Amino acid sequence: MIDKTQLQSEAAALGLQLSDAQLDQFDRLAQALVDRNRVMNLTAITEPSEIVTRHFADSLTVAAAVPLQEAAAVLDLGTGAGFPGLPLMILRPDLQMTLLDSTAKKLAYVAETADALGLRAQTLHQRAEIAGRDPAFRAQFDLVCSRAVAPLPVLCEYALPLLRIGGRLVAMKSVRAAEELAQAKDAIRLLGGAVAGVSSFTLADGSSRVLILIEKKSQTPAKYPRSGTQIAKKPL
Ligand code: SAH
Repeated sequence: MIDKTQLQSEAAALGLQLSDAQLDQFDRLAQALVDRNRVMNLTAITEPSEIVTRHFADSLTVAAAVPLQEAAAVLDLGTGAGFPGLPLMILRPDLQMTLLDSTAKKLAYVAETADALGLRAQTLHQRAEIAGRDPAFRAQFDLVCSRAVAPLPVLCEYALPLLRIGGRLVAMKSVRAAEELAQAKDAIRLLGGAVAGVSSFTLADGSSRVLILIEKKSQTPAKYPRSGTQIAKKPL
């Protein structure tokens, strides 16, 4: 259903190579998304060429922005219909990927689709701020990536507790990244993080993407993450 040449060239523009088998997996993922979207609300993007650019290539910017070590423990925080997590798993099947979302229905679709594509996915139906207090998940991840989930100060409170020291948050943002970064200065410091860099990309449709990289430098104080209501009411 997708134009594989289009995807191949948009991936190449990010410095990434996709095999025929991977292109085939992406094609099946697009089909699954469009099919399931007819019966539940997964995405507003349903035109194949837009799926390629705005879901697939956009997701792959994470791999272009940070080195991903072999078998790294990665968390996609608020994966929704599986972005950026599923494309990253197709690109790098060695990753130990956890796909977290608080919406069970979307996560069921994601688990089923990962299975159908032969990807070893761990799905976690939980709120990020609850997972962040659970010893099974706190300080366990090498990388947390997240797209379209929360403003940066809130996202940092969700994500930093889940990272191991030296691990990184990749916050997938757009044109207002500088503003968000300024607003998140205190949050980043209080949570034990530091800005490690900013990577900018222009997608094939001309839209800008800015990935903010935050490294965890020291342990997050035990009082974070706070409850969801507190986080929403009084962002750091
Ligand atoms: N990352 C996907 C989905 C974005 S929509 C994409 O870019 O396409 C935001 C998703 O984050 C929703 O599926 C919502 O259920 C989830 N979400 C929001 N706050 C959350 C939280 N605190 N914990 C877990 N999931 C959350």
